[in-house]
Amino acid sequence: MREVAVVGLGYVGLTMAACLAARGIRTTGVDVDKEKLAMVERRTSPFYEPGLQDMLSESLRSGHLALTADCEEAVGRSELVFVTVGTPSNPDGSINLDQIKAACTNVGSALRKSPRYHLTVIRSTVTPGTTENVVKPLLESGSGKTCGSDFGLCVNPEFVSEGRAVDGTMNPGRIIIGEWDSQAGDILERFYAGFCDGKMPPVLRTTFANAELIKYANNAFLATRVSFINSLANLCERIPGADIELIAKGIGLDPRIGPLFLRAGLGWGGSCFPKDLRALVEFARAKGEGLPVIRSAYDVNEFQPLRAVRMAEHLIGSLRGKRVAVLGVSFKPETDDTREASGLVVIHGLLREGAEVTVYDPRALQNARAVHGEKVRYAQSALECIEGADCCIVVTEWDEFRKLTAEDFVKRMRIPSVVDGRRIYDPNLFKSKARFAAIGLA
Ligand code: NAD
Repeated sequence: MREVAVVGLGYVGLTMAACLAARGIRTTGVDVDKEKLAMVERRTSPFYEPGLQDMLSESLRSGHLALTADCEEAVGRSELVFVTVGTPSNPDGSINLDQIKAACTNVGSALRKSPRYHLTVIRSTVTPGTTENVVKPLLESGSGKTCGSDFGLCVNPEFVSEGRAVDGTMNPGRIIIGEWDSQAGDILERFYAGFCDGKMPPVLRTTFANAELIKYANNAFLATRVSFINSLANLCERIPGADIELIAKGIGLDPRIGPLFLRAGLGWGGSCFPKDLRALVEFARAKGEGLPVIRSAYDVNEFQPLRAVRMAEHLIGSLRGKRVAVLGVSFKPETDDTREASGLVVIHGLLREGAEVTVYDPRALQNARAVHGEKVRYAQSALECIEGADCCIVVTEWDEFRKLTAEDFVKRMRIPSVVDGRRIYDPNLFKSKARFAAIGLA
């Protein structure tokens, strides 16, 4: 199996590097963040992802995974170079390519020094045209070589979701390859055939631009489904007897629709959907297209978290001086990632209304503290969080919160009142014992 470099050890890159090494591929992870590298050297994952910590320790112990800040050294000894650096938003919403440009400049100078053919694979999410118009020229000018004849270039978008990233990386559901030429695409497809060891998923080979757009279309479609069901959830709250859970179940039984991504809640967040939708809308705007459906999906989502604050007011009146417990701040369960998480918006809204906020999350308290500092109190358990509270808002559907019973709230809260922002509780069990409101429930 070929040697591989992974440039950018964030949620995607570090998971990928550990997974490749676990399958016996000699992998070098590269990052510019020396503190992060030192932490990983100590065999500690800088973030929480189920299964990653053990895999990382084992990969470093076995010697299959090496780490460096020196991109040239890593690229020099690798036949494949996966670029997994971040692609955040500019203030106007457009994609910020600074990390991509810096990484590709380094890869370009490494290619100049190497006599061999290397394949660079852009795994970061980039807007259509980026690989051809930004990455390829940087690699060519940095290396003094020609794409195709001297080195290979592919775009290979990543579809894993945090919380299930190890399994998603070990067993990809599909492989999209945007290729400059068939030589590059063949090498990448053969690499995956070896990695997947006989369990090769469907492979789609296409142009750079199509591969780049597939990734955005994927995220935009999923986000739109969620905003669609959230809009209807908001309507359900105004129709006596209506319940969005049943509406979602009913339409999900239609095979043309299916049941996934129809859970109503406090909106989507995280490191991908918000920034990718902004980037797509801004990209389209520059091309003269409005993308009204996707823009609306984004707008619906902007207001969705604040519905929890309105529901809390509905249950207990003015929030000024009231103690509100917030359960969950990560953007979804099984991750500590709070980037653009609904929980942060909810907390901000509560503070604005003058509430005293206590937060608990099984994994994400440190990241929450980095945003809200000492403006809120941090509890060490769910039960401590709700103790003496006037209202509790469930923001993230961690299993730990599902296990709480109506009695737990009744026993501990000053005013037992619960806003179920993720529909994890049975309204019939809660309504008779506590003040209760839930997204999408009349
Ligand atoms: P991240 O911000 O967590 O990590 C990026 C890493 O790259 C950081 O560790 C940073 O220090 C490093 N870096 C920056 N510049 C560098 C350089 N020049 N050389 C080497 N390292 C450098 O990002 P992420 O969440 O892992 O996402 C990476 C890409 O994958 C993004 O384009 C994202 O949209 C895409 N993606 C993310 C997910 C996800 O769930 N997080 C899923 C699919 C796709």
